Amino acid sequence: MSSSTESVLDEQGDYQWPWCQMGHFGINFIQSDDSKAYVEGDLTRAYIKDYDLLKASKRPKPEETEELIQTDLSEMSLKEDETEALGEASDKLLDEKDRAFEVLPKWSSDKRKGKKKKGKGRYNYHSFKEYWDVSCFWLTQLTWLNDFGEQMTEDNRKELTKQCDEMKPIYPIDHHENLLENSDYQNVTKKMIETNPEATFEEIYAEHCSIIKKQSEIDYHIFQTKEVTRRCKDMISRVKRLGYAPGFEETQFPAFYNLEDHSKIREKPVIKEIRYTIDEAYAKKFCGADPRDEKTDESTASTSDINIQQESSSQNNITNDNPSEIRFNFNPETEQHLIASNAEKLYANDPEISKYYWQRYRLFSRLDEGIIMDREGWFSVTPEAIAEHIADRVVRHNVSVVVDAFTGVGGNAIQFALRGAHVIAIDMDPVRLKCARENARVYGVEDYIDFICADFFDVAATWTMDKKMAPKVDAVFLSPPWGGPSYLKAKEFDLETGCCPNGVDIFDVSLKISPNIAYFLPRNTKVSQLTELAIKAKSRMEIEQSSLNSKIKTITVYYGKLAYREKSQKEEN
Ligand code: ADP
Repeated sequence: MSSSTESVLDEQGDYQWPWCQMGHFGINFIQSDDSKAYVEGDLTRAYIKDYDLLKASKRPKPEETEELIQTDLSEMSLKEDETEALGEASDKLLDEKDRAFEVLPKWSSDKRKGKKKKGKGRYNYHSFKEYWDVSCFWLTQLTWLNDFGEQMTEDNRKELTKQCDEMKPIYPIDHHENLLENSDYQNVTKKMIETNPEATFEEIYAEHCSIIKKQSEIDYHIFQTKEVTRRCKDMISRVKRLGYAPGFEETQFPAFYNLEDHSKIREKPVIKEIRYTIDEAYAKKFCGADPRDEKTDESTASTSDINIQQESSSQNNITNDNPSEIRFNFNPETEQHLIASNAEKLYANDPEISKYYWQRYRLFSRLDEGIIMDREGWFSVTPEAIAEHIADRVVRHNVSVVVDAFTGVGGNAIQFALRGAHVIAIDMDPVRLKCARENARVYGVEDYIDFICADFFDVAATWTMDKKMAPKVDAVFLSPPWGGPSYLKAKEFDLETGCCPNGVDIFDVSLKISPNIAYFLPRNTKVSQLTELAIKAKSRMEIEQSSLNSKIKTITVYYGKLAYREKSQKEEN
């Protein structure tokens, strides 16, 4: 077993759900101000399952509702069909599949080596110097032999030919494949000899070597630009195949951008060098289907759709005679419309909410024990199993105080507190925060959560301006509104325009509170933007897909010490 596999096993050993690392990458960027930046990160996936909660939510089976259940609970129905057909064998198969998670991907280099076609190999040289070190003898001597061989004694010629054969680098750059047919490398000292017939042998040889080196350097850079561009495209297609939205534009590749041309304004960082290991076979093996073929599933959608918000606020005002009067205490008598277990009746004519109601226990397994939610809460709360996993990831490595900056109805805050963290839960909507507090009470953790009803930007500004007011925060969790379920209809989700408020601003502000950030986002968020955040944070990153019952639902991007790091790297630091 490779050392990387061991450390992956070690790290995921205490996660509740199977977890795997699918890829690793390192990218060198040139930023708009010409400064350099390096980002390193991992692509990972958590395999979360909540069939039991889905099953518990299932509507009793009157004939007329059969069709609806099948659409709403498609994931569960699918599983049930399988189970019916396969009976016990199916359970066994699933068990084996679960156990298969323990076999984590091996770094793919061995497999690739086997597939490599002879003569087509490439070596990723780190610099011209590295290339020149391995090729200078061959380049200068072979071209010298070509130009002056006829003037040598036969023995000398033979000897030099032999040496050149021996010194040929295994991976010459494209321009040097047929070196002797390349006119840039023929008779390079001709001009010197013509203009200076008195030149000595040593002078001609020195000039020859210098011209060959200069020409090689030019050709090396052309080759390198093409190579990096090829690698950019290759990495992007691999990332896509794993179900991520890359978001990089061609103008960011070196071949499409002249790095030396300073006259152009670079809006986005340009890739100078890229290295990666991505094991696609692993994703296919464990997910069954190609993630791109997944049907859109919006049950975890975060939404602030205007219509919904309007309806939501009218709902919220049902019992508030005076809307300016904010009541933080939940009154079960007058606020029955918030009680989640009443939702079947309350939203009887609201098919959108019915859909979520028939999956209700996946949102809160203790829903019947007094969970309260406004209408938007039904759309936006993180499914409990995903929230559990995120808490598993965040509350470790000495993380004991977590800020949940957009608490909503509290799904995530509760899980952080259940893992033993002290949570500072912020939300600007008093009704939401009231729900979160009541829900925390249901889970017995309200004493471990401080609720702050305010704009996160104001809270952050206060903490940043007056350090004495600022608590010692170990990690920030961000789950801002994603701007309506339509986010999945677009190929890529833009962090700046898709989130409300702007997702990049949210990150900038959070960085002032803590470098350890977990960002909960749509699964199609642009990877390019997420790497730009890592540049700002000067941190490594991890983009973790949450696969819920084999469907990739969301991603959580970890920065700072929350990001996965191999054991050996941890030890080094
Ligand atoms: P979740 O419940 O998973 O956190 P939502 O999309 O409903 O998902 O969460 C968004 C929450 O963020 C809403 O409750 C909304 O009131 C809150 N919110 C939006 N903007 C801000 C802000 N600037 N400061 C604090 N809370 C905010």
